[in-house]
Amino acid sequence: MGDCVLIIDDSEMIRKKVREVFEAENMFSEYLMASDGMEGFKFLVTNKDRVDLILCDVVMPKFDGFKFLTLKTSKPDFAEIPVIMLTGQDDVETKVKSLTSGAQDYLTKPFHDQELIARVAIHKKLKKLQDEMREKNARLEEMNRTDALTKLPNRRFFMESFSREYERAKRYGEPLSYVMCDLDKFKSVNDNYGHIAGDNALVVAAKVLKDTLRTNDLPGRYGGEEFGMLLPETDAEGAQIVADRCREIIAQTPVETDQGNISITISMGISTFYPTRDESEHPTISKIIDLADGALYQAKEDGRNRVVIEAGSLKP
Ligand code: GH3
Ligand code: MG
Ligand code: MG
Repeated sequence: MGDCVLIIDDSEMIRKKVREVFEAENMFSEYLMASDGMEGFKFLVTNKDRVDLILCDVVMPKFDGFKFLTLKTSKPDFAEIPVIMLTGQDDVETKVKSLTSGAQDYLTKPFHDQELIARVAIHKKLKKLQDEMREKNARLEEMNRTDALTKLPNRRFFMESFSREYERAKRYGEPLSYVMCDLDKFKSVNDNYGHIAGDNALVVAAKVLKDTLRTNDLPGRYGGEEFGMLLPETDAEGAQIVADRCREIIAQTPVETDQGNISITISMGISTFYPTRDESEHPTISKIIDLADGALYQAKEDGRNRVVIEAGSLKP
């Protein structure tokens, strides 16, 4: 089941009683017991992704339930974990304060076993639904950013990264290289071997880029058979070494087709942004891309399967 409950109460008797009720109903598989708010909070910090529900007494010596609630509410990491406060029978003020201070519910003491079970069951169910929704949203977001075929960042997300890296390069005065890549004679791969072979070629090229680049480098699928690589803190010479390594590995990696393996090649154009003191001299992102595109065109003209550096990129 994997459900974990954190029970915070200064009375050992109540902690035991609550646990017995849960155990009889098989409601949780893990129990964390704390005797005041501070101990409870420490458990929460060390078991952040494990705790599914918190039951917390209000009145406790030293660190009471409201102090715990304030601390827990101040940390966004714990926002998804529901809290049920244990309040006195007729203390309306405490009940209201519990709900307005971040608790999801309260239970009056002495509680009835059936009510404890019913309320906890509701919050467990809500938490489960919310967890599922969050997971789905995260997956959707990932899909939104990723090209389905190659699993590289798609153009939109890649351009967002470009803006971020461009700003970062300006802030730290570090060069930023952009490499525009385009598969050679790709139309003939599709025409001679079919679309599936063409798709396999795109997957091979993307995988080489992903596997060859360093963790800070950012490859992306720019368009149909065009890829981009952003290389932060890398000058044009450095970019050429990286680009040539990728180019060579792509040429050596077989692509499966129904007529046997074939090899493909790729051409690349590099343009490097060197942030200078005078911002008015800075090329825009689209200028950087245009320059790389020009160098790529030159690589095609020069015979393909090569890397060309845009002339202005060599000297800052
Ligand atoms: P060059 O060496 O000059 O780049 O020649 P090329 O044939 O690669 O260039 P061109 O721009 O003439 O053709 C690009 C072709 O890429 C058109 C299309 O057949 C193919 N292509 C583009 N996107 C995809 C894709 O997602 N899947 C497949 N299978 N083919 C694609
Ligand atoms: Mg093209
Ligand atoms: Mg092409």
